[in-house]
Amino acid sequence: MTPWSPKLGAWPGKADMELVTTIPEVRQRLDAVRREGGTVGLVPTMGYLHEGHASLMASAVADNDFTMVTIFVNPLQFAAGEDLESYPRDLDRDLEICVAEGVDLVLAPSVDEMYPTSIETTVTVDRIARLLEGGSRPEHFAGVATVVAKLFSIAGSCRSYFGAKDWQQVAVVRKMAHDLSMPVEVVSCPIVREHDGLAMSSRNVYLTPDERIQAPALRRALDAGLTAIASGERDPTSVEAAMAAVIADASRATLDYVAAVQADTLTADALLHGEVRLLLAVHFGRTRLIDNDGTVIL
Ligand code: AMP
Repeated sequence: MTPWSPKLGAWPGKADMELVTTIPEVRQRLDAVRREGGTVGLVPTMGYLHEGHASLMASAVADNDFTMVTIFVNPLQFAAGEDLESYPRDLDRDLEICVAEGVDLVLAPSVDEMYPTSIETTVTVDRIARLLEGGSRPEHFAGVATVVAKLFSIAGSCRSYFGAKDWQQVAVVRKMAHDLSMPVEVVSCPIVREHDGLAMSSRNVYLTPDERIQAPALRRALDAGLTAIASGERDPTSVEAAMAAVIADASRATLDYVAAVQADTLTADALLHGEVRLLLAVHFGRTRLIDNDGTVIL
């Protein structure tokens, strides 16, 4: 193990957070925790951490004896022409946030450690991964499912924490873990937002000042959909139109998709009922943002 000491030394008692870069080291450490009867919390991330990630860590630390955060920008989930090369990275800052949240171990593997040879085995989730995000980014969820399957296999029996910000991702990972009998409980955590309603995202740093001002249009679009439903609208197409109208008013925004669907299937019945989820994806220049919210129709 490589003990990681915070440069500023400002976190008494937590200077022993471990930073590891290889898979065998993690296995050894987590096996030892479980042998002693401890529970393991896992928080998979791509780094450039913010308060959304920190909230997942806080839940993991509260629920478990030992928390591992993974920081890995997974090439498999980026299509050609997407932002793999420019994805923001700052490991030192990330480690400070992990220490502050009481994380026990960070796994920050290289691409070679995760994919030492060209990969011939991938995990694809069927129906639920083909909808919405899957329509716009056809390779994305196979990349996500494959890396998360690897992380679950590396971590072993644990609880793993994901943000509701990526609502469909939670559904895909849950389905995969269930279908493949993985010894992992998938825990979904609420979306953390900026003061103006924009969902926190590592990609928000790409926004120009003008785009940043307009970006809370996603939150306002969700509110418009929720208001329509609260007023009695049950036609999913009409709810979607109310949401799309808000995005159309933002001059720098281009709508990718908008959906008013049943929360469990992510598809629309003729009329909305029960637990409903509103989701959308919007381009602001080179930045693609997603958001969602939900309600229950009684
Ligand atoms: P990422 O590093 O973007 O792959 O995200 C890692 C985890 O953090 C995923 O489970 C995300 O859903 C979650 N996450 C990202 N942004 C937020 C947010 N604003 N609120 C809650 N969770 C988030």
